Amino acid sequence: MNDCIFCKISKGELPAKLVYEDPELFAFEDIAPQAPTHILICSRKHMVNLADSKEEDGALFGRALLLASRLAAKRKLTSGYRVVVNNGRGAGQTVFHLHFHLLGGRDFRWPPG
Ligand code: AMP
Repeated sequence: MNDCIFCKISKGELPAKLVYEDPELFAFEDIAPQAPTHILICSRKHMVNLADSKEEDGALFGRALLLASRLAAKRKLTSGYRVVVNNGRGAGQTVFHLHFHLLGGRDFRWPPG
């Protein structure tokens, strides 16, 4: 995807504060953080969102959640954290490259807005 900003970050063509990377996943600080910790965990493979996923992507999603847990431990988010996927415009998705938000460092309400 030539015009996808997260593909550009993945390839190093756009700057980002990377906190993790491997051949399948990369993670970076959100540019407009909604909590003291706000990290985006992305697949290198371009997928629009969960609705665009295939059976074979299951292991990658599992790895993304494990990474969220590792990063939360590293940030010492001991009182809790939230992992969010905004799937589709109506759910608040604004960047159409699958990503998991890791949010922590403050209290959260339920239900979410
Ligand atoms: P979503 O609304 O779920 O699609 O989330 C997209 C997120 O990407 C938002 O939280 C934005 O603040 C964040 N974002 C957009 N552009 C950048 C960027 N260049 N670097 C880091 N985060 C970004």
